[in-house]
Amino acid sequence: MDVTARIESVYAQIVRRNPGEAEFHQAAGEVLHTLAPVLRAHPDHLDARIVERLCEPERQIIFRVPWVDDQGDIHVSRGFRVEFNSALGPYKGGLRFHPSVNLGIVKFLGFEQIFKNALTGLAIGGGKGGADFDPKGRSDAEVMRFCQSFMTELHRHIGEHTDVPAGDIGVGAREIGYLFGQYKRLTNRFEAGVLTGKGVAWGGSHARTEATGYGTVHFAQEMLRTRGRGFDGCDVIVSGAGNVAVYAIEKVHALGGRVIACSDSSGYVVDPAGIDLDLLKEVKEVRRARILDYARARAGAVFSDRGSVFEVDCDIALPCATQNELGEQDAVALVKNGVLAVAEGANMPCTPAAVEVFREAGVLFGPGKAANAGGVATSALEMRQNAAREQWTFEQTEARLAEVMSDVHALCRATAEEYGSPDDYALGANVAGYLRVAEAMAAQGVI
Ligand code: GLU
Repeated sequence: MDVTARIESVYAQIVRRNPGEAEFHQAAGEVLHTLAPVLRAHPDHLDARIVERLCEPERQIIFRVPWVDDQGDIHVSRGFRVEFNSALGPYKGGLRFHPSVNLGIVKFLGFEQIFKNALTGLAIGGGKGGADFDPKGRSDAEVMRFCQSFMTELHRHIGEHTDVPAGDIGVGAREIGYLFGQYKRLTNRFEAGVLTGKGVAWGGSHARTEATGYGTVHFAQEMLRTRGRGFDGCDVIVSGAGNVAVYAIEKVHALGGRVIACSDSSGYVVDPAGIDLDLLKEVKEVRRARILDYARARAGAVFSDRGSVFEVDCDIALPCATQNELGEQDAVALVKNGVLAVAEGANMPCTPAAVEVFREAGVLFGPGKAANAGGVATSALEMRQNAAREQWTFEQTEARLAEVMSDVHALCRATAEEYGSPDDYALGANVAGYLRVAEAMAAQGVI
């Protein structure tokens, strides 16, 4: 069987064995369909069935999460942890609390995480978890009880050398605090390295909160530099208004660009003077309100709940909200408006058709598994600080983050050049990530 036919048969097997998991099929298909040249160069990987093993999680845990709301009513949520691959280190990846969470979503995220984590060059395997719990509109006490119930089951599966969760959509500093508190109580251990994204006063790392957004902008800057460009004077769209978006906006402004639009699940706001970050943080983080309230409080800003934020004219787009938020029509609109670069701050925000539009138009495209690797990289730096019982300064940590992002960019580019063309960051990220994991798996035998 030739390599292409083998890849197709692996993909068909994934679809057959994981019915209804559309996002997982999409993520796995996207990687598999770039691996032909590397598998041709490594027939030993085919004999060892590396790809087949890579696509099957090492362990998948699904559990009941019962919790009591403020009225005394009992709810039953479903919790997940997919421990996907531990060839390079303990399973590592965030937890997502969102009503859309199901096994297919967690598997797509866990699968992406394997390659992303490998690209950082730090010793972390890939995993992901979460629950279909919706923290929106819930009181602190309800969120706390949910987190405690979630950890009551999860704690037996994780550990600093086993599996190290962190945040993702719906899981921020507050949730990590409640989760860590319950882990500590259940185990009677102050095992700082079991979770990342902790508060800086109790084992967290400086710059972890900022890391994903900062890193995405850093990656975009490196891409732009290859064309002799930068953020200076550029109009930028950042979709989303959560942790990734907020710190992407901060970094763009620090580099002389202007973010003129951002969004949340209720719509988007265009602010030609540039997004006022203090106001955005106040609306989204303190008040936990909708983006509409930003527009109400800011002269010149316009809210819309029609169409898409990507229809706004810009030079650079940073999708930082969620998977498949940027479709073919959005990509066509961006290209028509002359977009130079797109870097994914979220995981898989661009659909395959959108990515194809960017490729054909010669738009620089930074895939999430490379462009948003700064978050998990800084998590690995947090684990390192925890193991050494020390804490680095913000400046030290940010400098390490910048170094990792430059290295990830250079690795993607060099690998893309070797296996295709240098601007094909999607190819470079997949192949470079794959090679690191595959070589470790080959060395560790059939496990
Ligand atoms: N959820 C983030 C990601 O998608 C961070 C994971 C982590 O820090 O472990 O990469």
